[in-house]
Amino acid sequence: MSTTIVTVDRRTCPLCDFCDSTLRRTVDGHSIVTCKNCRFEYVSNPIDWSRSQISGAAKKRRIRPRHTVLVNFAEMTGSRSILEVGSGVGELGLLLTERGIGYVGVEPDASRAASCQDAGLDVRTTPLELLPADLKFDLVVIDNVLEHVIDPVGLLNTAQAFLGDGGRLVVVVPNRKDIRSHVPSWSRKHLWTPRVHVNYFTGATLKDALVRSGLEPEHVPGATFAGTGSLSRRLVGYLNGAGIYPFGIYMAAKLNRPGSDEDSFS
Ligand SMILES: [Zn+2]
Repeated sequence: MSTTIVTVDRRTCPLCDFCDSTLRRTVDGHSIVTCKNCRFEYVSNPIDWSRSQISGAAKKRRIRPRHTVLVNFAEMTGSRSILEVGSGVGELGLLLTERGIGYVGVEPDASRAASCQDAGLDVRTTPLELLPADLKFDLVVIDNVLEHVIDPVGLLNTAQAFLGDGGRLVVVVPNRKDIRSHVPSWSRKHLWTPRVHVNYFTGATLKDALVRSGLEPEHVPGATFAGTGSLSRRLVGYLNGAGIYPFGIYMAAKLNRPGSDEDSFS
């Protein structure tokens, strides 16, 4: 295993760039703060994962309910070409290509990208901003990525450049206000633990990030959660579709261009 860790000494608010914040707590030397301007919660001295390298055992491929939600969303929006930012080991890519939907992914972790390529997927280790500018997609998927990156609004800005006319972006992030976060063991395992998570979104701050990057947020319709298993999960999906987020957050967005609102969900 090889390890290189690059840390950012102090960053301003990743949403509004304000420099003043309130320290909430410190975890393993990482300061979790709240922006005094926009109330976003983030780590002010995070590890920069884009410049760090940790190579470990390859992750096992595992289809999760959120992959079903994303496939349903792709089909519901009639998307025929998809770009995924952060392909992981290719679960979503395989589900989409099985359905004849075009898929390109970017994945900075070389071993995960190789696992995708071995499975026949077009997954590149190229940084997103270096993909050919003429590549355009019906849908850009950013699934459990924004909570890890130093500049989430910058990533949203870069990603939307790859949307074709009428294209959409869909984002999945953990929820700072997830009702399970009241259980300390669950919270430590899944959410508020630097090093890996450096941004802590709520429904309101994710919406804010999308707006700040020039996108128009939309709810992910509750029907998108069909086929995800339990009744409780489907109920949660319908709450999500209404803008209520008891667990993780699914949110879509489209380009904020004149005349691009003809097929809005809401
Ligand atoms: Zn802020």
